[in-house]
Amino acid sequence: MARIVKVSARLVNIPVETERTDAIQAFLVQETPFVEIETDDGLVGRGYSYTIGTGGSAVLALLHDVFQPRLIGADARAVEALWHTLWSSTRATTPGTLTALALAAVDTALWDLRCQRNAEPLWIAAGGYRQQIPAYDTEHGWLHLSEAELVDGMRSLVDAGWTAAKMKVGRELLPEDVRRVRRVREAVGEDFTLFVDANQGFTRSEALRRARAIEPFDIAWLEEPLPADDREGHAWLAGQTGIPIAVGETLNTIAQCVAYLSSGAASIMQVDAARVGGVTPWLKVAHAAEAMNIDICPHFLMELHVSLAGATPAGTWVEHIPQLRSVTRTEVQVEAGVAYVPDTPGLGIDWDMTKIDEFTVSPILTV
Ligand code: MG
Repeated sequence: MARIVKVSARLVNIPVETERTDAIQAFLVQETPFVEIETDDGLVGRGYSYTIGTGGSAVLALLHDVFQPRLIGADARAVEALWHTLWSSTRATTPGTLTALALAAVDTALWDLRCQRNAEPLWIAAGGYRQQIPAYDTEHGWLHLSEAELVDGMRSLVDAGWTAAKMKVGRELLPEDVRRVRRVREAVGEDFTLFVDANQGFTRSEALRRARAIEPFDIAWLEEPLPADDREGHAWLAGQTGIPIAVGETLNTIAQCVAYLSSGAASIMQVDAARVGGVTPWLKVAHAAEAMNIDICPHFLMELHVSLAGATPAGTWVEHIPQLRSVTRTEVQVEAGVAYVPDTPGLGIDWDMTKIDEFTVSPILTV
């Protein structure tokens, strides 16, 4: 028994390192629900999730009003039982993103405790597959960049030894997207892996037009071409273009992810540990993907996902968007397009609690 004696939650606003824009939104601050769980053996587990700027206060309220009281007195080792208790307590009112983000903040703290208790790094506790994962960069592909800025940035990646990157598409006119993709392909050369991301910005007909128009440039995946709830549309599009379709960052349950996988709507699964409710459901999606011979390339959260991608044979690429450097004492090591999985006990995220305090924008709600 490792009895939970104290749980605190707060909202931390972490600034972004660069302006991030895509076809439907801009990301200017990361709202970070941050949870600490203390057990009677003296350990403290720390977990988190995120929003890209809206809804954080609702997640915090859900944590404080519903989840935290239910955790007190429970055995922190029974992670599955706690996950299901919390999930069931909100099933009638808030299924979807808010519940998933609140669950993830708790679940990652419980995994941190589990790893600390067993003196294991997350990549071992969650499976233990490999310690080096190919990484691709997203920080040089934002939609607001001019063509010249985009091309210069992509060329700088090649010069620094990167082998893969992602660029946003969804400019107003199709020829703009095509010209940007063509110029990037010319700049990076044919041996470079190039992904594009539409962030749910297209209708079915427009997605097909744009996919066909960029097919000649060897695109390794087209990400979220359609609204995330249009699973049938993604399956239809996958049958119309040779570009693999990547989805998953906007799915909130295991069942949604598996429906995408089993219907041919996802050639690449980008399940996000925060938006799907934590490490516990993330691993189930990863195992389902492995069973169907589909790659897992998790969305964002590289500081956490690098360990999860290293836990499973399905983990193929980690997305490089540094986001926690201002609140941690160490950072994910990435060299020449390879991310190195941290080997320290816990989640592998070395929080700087002075910085966390500095960026905290809510009361610290404790039970
Ligand atoms: Mg995306």
